[in-house]
Amino acid sequence: MAVVEVNNLVKSYGPLEAVKGITFSINRGEIFGLIGPNGAGKTTTLRVLSTLLKISSGSIKIMDYDLEKEPDEVRKIISYLPEDAGAYKNLSGRRYLEFIANFFQEKNTQQMISRGMEIANLGERIDDKVDTYSKGMMRKLLVGRALMTEPKLAILDEPTSGLDVNNAQEIRRLVKSTARAGTTVLLSSHNMLEVEFMCDRIALISNGIIVEEGTPRDLMEKYNAKNIEEVFTKVVR
Ligand code: ATP
Repeated sequence: MAVVEVNNLVKSYGPLEAVKGITFSINRGEIFGLIGPNGAGKTTTLRVLSTLLKISSGSIKIMDYDLEKEPDEVRKIISYLPEDAGAYKNLSGRRYLEFIANFFQEKNTQQMISRGMEIANLGERIDDKVDTYSKGMMRKLLVGRALMTEPKLAILDEPTSGLDVNNAQEIRRLVKSTARAGTTVLLSSHNMLEVEFMCDRIALISNGIIVEEGTPRDLMEKYNAKNIEEVFTKVVR
């Protein structure tokens, strides 16, 4: 069953058409990766799907909801991790997760907070103020925040950006196990190893258009490439 159906999506900023009519769908529990050069339209696509930007034309369905007509319903079932997100600097990591969890009163907030802390895996530093965190610690806290709510759809803009190798691997494993537990994931990344390891399917977006789509294996076969980086350089010249 498709959790996400994007149909001929166009998004313009004034005269600039950043996304020029893209179509894709994502099935339940799939990890779907958007890759592409700088300025290709990845963040724009993710921001539209998270209801933060208005659609210029086309349509998006998330589960049974039409994103334009029922954005509030969509917001209840998604979670968005922006590329450049921050947290409230005066709160400790734990207080920040508690603060966010309290928005989800119908759910078991204590369990949600524990899950967030487990994902963030900050040890004792979870009780330090967020403004003392390194970039990687902040990212881990935010990934914890995004996944603790067990959203139907997690939209992750470069989830491991700024993380060292060990932390990035830990986050990748977590995202994978979250998907196995039923969360559908849409992510963007510049790390080709990451998308090869994590994604069930990849869409390569260039200049606002999806120019290739498929499983990592199919794409590597099609381009006779050793890895996704090679596919990328062959497709995007
Ligand atoms: P990157 O890999 O560099 O993060 P991206 O694929 O995420 O790039 P977008 O951020 O979606 O690309 O940008 C797509 C196009 O839209 C670019 O030409 C960018 O300059 C433009 N753009 C993005 N945000 C805005 C905005 N708020 N106003 C005007 N133009 C914008």
